[in-house]
Amino acid sequence: MDDGDAHPVLAERLRPFTTTIFATMSELATATNSVNLGQGFPDTDGPAELAEIAAEAIRHGDNQYPPSAGIPELRRAVATHQRAWYGLDLDPDTEVLVTVGATEAIAATLLALCEPGDEVVMFEPSYDSYAACASMAGAVPRLVRLHPPDWTFDPNELAAAAARPRARLLLLNTPHNPTGKVFTVDELEQAAANCRAHDLLAVTDEVYEHLVFDGAHVPLATLPGMRGRTLTISSGGKTFSFTGWKVGWVSGSAPLVAAVRAAKQFLTYTSPAPLQLAVAHGLGFPPKRIAGLAAELAAKRELLCGGLARLGYTVYRPSATYFATTDISAVAPVLSALDFCLGLPGRCGVVAVPSSVFYDPADPGAGRNLVRWAFCKRDAVLRDAITRLASWAP
Ligand code: PMP
Ligand code: GLN
Repeated sequence: MDDGDAHPVLAERLRPFTTTIFATMSELATATNSVNLGQGFPDTDGPAELAEIAAEAIRHGDNQYPPSAGIPELRRAVATHQRAWYGLDLDPDTEVLVTVGATEAIAATLLALCEPGDEVVMFEPSYDSYAACASMAGAVPRLVRLHPPDWTFDPNELAAAAARPRARLLLLNTPHNPTGKVFTVDELEQAAANCRAHDLLAVTDEVYEHLVFDGAHVPLATLPGMRGRTLTISSGGKTFSFTGWKVGWVSGSAPLVAAVRAAKQFLTYTSPAPLQLAVAHGLGFPPKRIAGLAAELAAKRELLCGGLARLGYTVYRPSATYFATTDISAVAPVLSALDFCLGLPGRCGVVAVPSSVFYDPADPGAGRNLVRWAFCKRDAVLRDAITRLASWAP
């Protein structure tokens, strides 16, 4: 959120990016004892056996700096996972880099690849760290709008952004936060064609790769001509419901990964050893077990989306992730999404996120009616949230 005036010492390039909406909303949830459907984190733990592996590793002295690129077990597990799920062959020594969550992977990638003034083509709405990290790298986002209900884009808008002289890379998030969109193969092909035509690099954020309900997740790196120009980012946070562990990774061709490693080593140098070991184990789970969380979440999607629709919200049912977007116009015609979300905890004890924060701040009308709700919560919590929302009629 932009409260830059309250931060006179903050460097100019970070002024628009002071407190993230997630921190703001989670603090509000705690302060008002609200049901938190804002920040996306599950309210139940991931697999106990993974927690036990991490705990054992700590007890057995796995507590000093691991290699900067990540422990070999995790790099091998990422390579094996990419081959098994997507047919992508990676050398775990040179083509996989472990990071502190996908967040660091995004930051290190943009810092490594962008010159000041370069443009990063990305779809809007977009996850909030993209614009902030682009700005830290001196780069400029070039936004291509996704339109509800299916969050499609105008191919001409994408082509025009990609053709600009300073366009350097395409940053693509699929499955997509906040909309829950899974980019189709046809859309990915359009993205790839633009990268090939204008010699752009591609960076994909695939942290929700295993939380897909409808359609299938296809990594951009698997499309023709993309393997050598794409860096693929993911993390264990969503897949294993351990969002606080912050174990992520980036994979791609050796020269691209080496570039990101150069940046990563001066951001954090390395990532927590015991957690890497546990995530490596998790990536080796049988595919059915990895896909199990999506099946649970699909039922929660119905619970939340059904409840919100009954209350009069226009619901854009997500195909993936654990977020649902609604248009609030019918329920609260005069309120902006931000005002709606700031007032909601006081009115009925529920926290959600205004999707307007995922749009260009220079366009104040963008996403003005859109609110994002997280459904990675226990069923009783989701039911409670719907009951609370029903108690408030604007
Ligand atoms: N990318 C997207 C699209 C996200 O929603 C998130 C939020 N978890 C992240 C990256 C950050 O992932 P991590 O927690 O692994 O840093
Ligand atoms: N990815 C999470 C979300 O979209 C939030 C992560 C964070 O707090 N930075 O809700």
